[in-house]
Amino acid sequence: MTTLVLIALAAITARLIFIYTHPVGPCRRCRGKGTNPLSTKKRSGYCRRCHGARVTQRTGSKALHRMVRGTSNAVKDTRKKR
Ligand SMILES: [Zn+2]
Repeated sequence: MTTLVLIALAAITARLIFIYTHPVGPCRRCRGKGTNPLSTKKRSGYCRRCHGARVTQRTGSKALHRMVRGTSNAVKDTRKKR
């Protein structure tokens, strides 16, 4: 049981480090193409998820960067109290 908890903690830590160092990843909807699935050679439209940027922000990366920089609301609240 303890081993499972340790493995889970290691996986979460590894994921957080990965998200911190790679805040954006290829768009999952268009798979990095930047166009929507109905696009052909003659007509093309931007992907609705990434708007043609081909990359999307990873879940939790904004919150993680805010926490590290110390600009999240939770950190601000604790600083005000002191
Ligand atoms: Zn996309």
